[in-house]
Amino acid sequence: MKVGFIGLGAIGRPMAAHIAKRFPTVVWNRTGSKAEAFAAETGAAVARSPADLVKAVDVVVTCLPTSHEVWEISEAAGSAWRAGQLLLDLTSGDPITSRELAARLAEKGVGFVDAPVSGGTSGAEAGTLTVMLGGEERWVKRALEVVGAFSSKAVHVGPVGAGHATKAINNALLAVNLIAAGEGLAALVKIGVPAAKALEVINASSGRSNVTENLIPQRVVTRAWPRTFRLALLYKDLDIADDVLRDTEVPHEMIGLAWRLFAEGRKTLGDEADHVEIIKLIEKQAGVEIK
Ligand code: NDP
Repeated sequence: MKVGFIGLGAIGRPMAAHIAKRFPTVVWNRTGSKAEAFAAETGAAVARSPADLVKAVDVVVTCLPTSHEVWEISEAAGSAWRAGQLLLDLTSGDPITSRELAARLAEKGVGFVDAPVSGGTSGAEAGTLTVMLGGEERWVKRALEVVGAFSSKAVHVGPVGAGHATKAINNALLAVNLIAAGEGLAALVKIGVPAAKALEVINASSGRSNVTENLIPQRVVTRAWPRTFRLALLYKDLDIADDVLRDTEVPHEMIGLAWRLFAEGRKTLGDEADHVEIIKLIEKQAGVEIK
């Protein structure tokens, strides 16, 4: 099976590297130099355009900022698509666009599976991502062959769009946690509890989370603030979660509030800030550094 990979960004690149170890791989990236560098390191081939890539492979994998870019790339490939191919979308996308795209591709006999990932760039490098797949059983079976190259857990959660909905809700929980943990720790530091001591207790108690176990100790307390997952992308996930909650008519005060705070954070911190940097705004308002 020949695999094509489109979108060699922060998380796409390490996933593509695992795929290239297992399958003959062709890549395309908007900034062509990244594709050339990737090919030099991994032995993958470089396509001149998305259409050329689609012509050359059996499974097309996309990892782009939003479903909008996935739609555009799929359209750009136009008549290059042929029956029996699969578009496997690793983007944290939106269920509505994905269902429309799946229907459009189905007219050509092309399958679609949404398969967003969780575990960050470190999980992508280690090949231990969690993947949530939405799609028809027969296509998901094929998708799993590729997904196996970079995941330690893959769950078929439902029909097309279900993977994207699950990912959006997961990331909404991450956003809520970042804000709540940031606020709580800022208060503790202000009354004289060092962040390391507070985290030692919380991480052995019921309030612990990935945010308190991994993100705050490694990125905030150290003042390292690495940029691995853009705040703008987490805001996009909150936007999708908000749509899912609205469509299902579920009241969502908490996630709605996180959505508003991240919208402000995006405006203040800009497009390149990391998601954890939302805590910088809490620190600024509180007049304290969490350390
Ligand atoms: P990046 O911003 O690092 O990379 C985006 C990729 O998409 C780049 O290859 C970029 O090309 C390409 N791209 C952007 N716009 C276009 C366009 N208009 N046409 C064609 N290509 C385009 O994002 P990430 O890799 O961090 O994220 C990708 C997806 O994975 C997102 O949906 C994100 O939410 C999700 N995700 C990210 C995680 C992370 O930790 N980073 C964790 C889990 C999910 P170019 O190189 O030219 O800029």
